[in-house]
Amino acid sequence: MSSSCSTKRFAGKKVFVSGGSQGIGEAISLAFAREGARVAVNGRNKEKLEKFLPSLPVVPKGAHLACPADVSDEKAISQAVQQAFHEFGGLDILVCNAGILLEAPSEDIPLEDFMKVMNVNVTGVMLCVREVLRHWVKDGTKGSIVINSSVHQLIPKPAFLGYSASKGAVGNMVRTWALEYASRGIRVNGVAPGAILTPMNDGWANDPEKYKAVSSHIPMGRPGESDEIAEPVLFLASDQASYITGQTLYIDGGLTLYADFAKNWST
Ligand code: NAP
Repeated sequence: MSSSCSTKRFAGKKVFVSGGSQGIGEAISLAFAREGARVAVNGRNKEKLEKFLPSLPVVPKGAHLACPADVSDEKAISQAVQQAFHEFGGLDILVCNAGILLEAPSEDIPLEDFMKVMNVNVTGVMLCVREVLRHWVKDGTKGSIVINSSVHQLIPKPAFLGYSASKGAVGNMVRTWALEYASRGIRVNGVAPGAILTPMNDGWANDPEKYKAVSSHIPMGRPGESDEIAEPVLFLASDQASYITGQTLYIDGGLTLYADFAKNWST
């Protein structure tokens, strides 16, 4: 998407993207920078962040920022968000994108694995949002928050209990924050992607047979690209969505449409 400097949607805006150095988060960071925003990019790996930062389009008013921290580490992520507020002189938008998944049959799931997923996907989101809200409540910023959930907010994911539980929780957190902060002009929304081509899915995306099998379950017949999630995230964060709060937008090529009903089961 090309636009002149004066028409860039996010010119002068400051954005924090958790898990913003790879996959969907990378596409979100790039899209915000292309639209004129300064971006504070978070991830655990400092070297990866520092390598990624120069690939972001340059913006007129200051540099982008690397904010290394594990979102599930209370002290580290709080400091990372504070650093962004300090360096940028404020934040207008928070995107909570960092998320992980671990597989195990539910009868054998190690508590440690279950808690790890919950700590990143639920507690990590809560910690980022809490830190941002603390600043916005104090300084009166009418900011916007977008949380990256999953179609598994709605569709069960057998053998991924932590992932299903965490994304279900995130859906209710979005609605709770949206209601709690609506009167302050703070909007909170979610996106729920289907199967997207990111490193998280390299296991099937690079195997033609598995790729075909995954595609066969998607009504639109293909997985999505990270940019197809980034653009709706930017929309929800933008003033074009000024009256939208508490919603989760499913972006899934029709995956949540009960694909099994596409043809009559019997006539
Ligand atoms: P990905 O390719 O694995 O990238 C994850 C990003 O998050 C990386 O930048 C990673 O950087 C960072 N990260 C991971 N754990 C972190 C932590 N504890 N603290 C801070 N940063 C962390 O994942 P993705 O496929 O783009 O998925 C991104 C989000 O979309 C997740 O919330 C996922 O649940 C959701 N989603 C993905 C799909 C899909 O099909 N890909 C579908 C639905 C929903 P470091 O390794 O350096 O930390």
